[in-house]
Amino acid sequence: MRRKLVAGNWKMNLDLASGRSLATALAKDVGSTTAVEVMVCPPFPYLSAIHEILSNSSVRLGAQNCYFEAPGAFTGEIAATMLTDVGCDAVILGHSERRHILGETDEIIRKKITTALAAGLDVVLCVGELKEERLENQTEIVLKRQMSGALDGQDVALLLKHLVVAYEPVWAIGTGLTATPDQAESVHIYLRNWLSMYYNPDLANKVRILYGGSVKPDNARELLGQPNVDGALVGGASLKFEQFQPIVQAARDLTAT
Ligand code: PEP
Repeated sequence: MRRKLVAGNWKMNLDLASGRSLATALAKDVGSTTAVEVMVCPPFPYLSAIHEILSNSSVRLGAQNCYFEAPGAFTGEIAATMLTDVGCDAVILGHSERRHILGETDEIIRKKITTALAAGLDVVLCVGELKEERLENQTEIVLKRQMSGALDGQDVALLLKHLVVAYEPVWAIGTGLTATPDQAESVHIYLRNWLSMYYNPDLANKVRILYGGSVKPDNARELLGQPNVDGALVGGASLKFEQFQPIVQAARDLTAT
């Protein structure tokens, strides 16, 4: 049984004071419960402060990126070991904003994953097609390229322990458009089959595949209720407790039934 994971990607949003109040409210709501995993991924400068707030709760702390090199002369970059040092146990890699705005290639993402896994971090690997790629029926080709580009040559035992995949159709991110539950489920099945064929059925069965793309309180239950949707990666709606909490609650309700 895969435990549902609801992760909030704060992106380059919030200030320290609002990040603190959001984390405080979440820590109170989640407490030490673990039936559903809840994670927040604040901007780098706020990680330590948010870690302190979350430390008496089971809310996990993730980062939004890291560099693939060991600590050294790489001005402006953040090493994976620095993330564990400030209390992170996960990192988002391959987010579409990093692929399409910051120019990250599959090769860069692959190297970052290797480094993050070696540091003991869980990796939330984001994959997803552009609108035109979906319209041209290229979705599976794109996903296959992104999955093999990122995962080729990775240590299977580490993937088994640490990999989470997030299917995030780019046309649904921050747009208010959402994949239908059927669209999400069918892509998640494709990704699970790909993991089974490229690696093995055990890995495919254990890896959690999250859906991301305009997940909101009013669509969370249906999306999260799909058999192969193991949670959500939430952007905009993760910035307000009143919006994020009902998404977490939807995952809890589905877990309880
Ligand atoms: C995201 O960027 O990971 C995301 C899913 O954003 P939003 O929920 O705002 O679409």
